[in-house]
Amino acid sequence: MSMTATPIPILSDNYAWLLRGSDGAVGIVDPADAAPVIAALEATGGRCDLILLTHHHADHVAGTDAVRARFGCKVAGAAADRHRLPALDIALAEGDTVSLGQARAQVMETPGHTRGHISYFFADGAVLLPGDTLFSLGCGKLLEGTAAEMFASLGKFAALPDDTLVCCGHEYTESNARFALTEEPENQALIARAAEAAAQRRAGQPTLPARLGNERAANPFLRARDAATLGAIRARKDRF
Ligand code: ZN
Ligand code: FE
Repeated sequence: MSMTATPIPILSDNYAWLLRGSDGAVGIVDPADAAPVIAALEATGGRCDLILLTHHHADHVAGTDAVRARFGCKVAGAAADRHRLPALDIALAEGDTVSLGQARAQVMETPGHTRGHISYFFADGAVLLPGDTLFSLGCGKLLEGTAAEMFASLGKFAALPDDTLVCCGHEYTESNARFALTEEPENQALIARAAEAAAQRRAGQPTLPARLGNERAANPFLRARDAATLGAIRARKDRF
């Protein structure tokens, strides 16, 4: 048994992620809408030990205090952004680890979308929580950062295994696919992923988690070889 990650659809196109460790510990990532998150936690044993926040945007943090009040759980997030996050019990920086029961997540500072954005990787289960840094077939908008920062942030995922489960903050895969296919119309991995995502959505299913190895083959933002290329792709996507 290893950690599992289940998406909870919230708001218009966000996911909160419900994490369950093999020892029964339960965590929730980016609980922006308290009611569906609390309902999902009640339906799976009524326990929550830890809230993990990726970045300060309201569509990721807004339900945090209500979930904390209901379960009495700890809240972890970026030390660099604690002035604009809900109150943190655990303030995290690059290289830190944070424990969910016996499982430990490695913390990576991944600026680009926002300055204080962090991502989490649980080696147990190979679960990556990249927030709005990496999407399936896309990456986050550069709202507070540069292409160089985003390139370095995405580069931090390079050491992670191909079978890593990529648990993104938004269901953007189909619209990302439409743009990605304009960048790499001949990319067979991309064509296959676009078809898979379309079928998943038709069936009413999330397209996530994605597999990191597949993203390496299909996602033009992960395939960019330098920051200038990434910046150019990002600029075309912004106009798409
Ligand atoms: Zn965001
Ligand atoms: Fe977001």
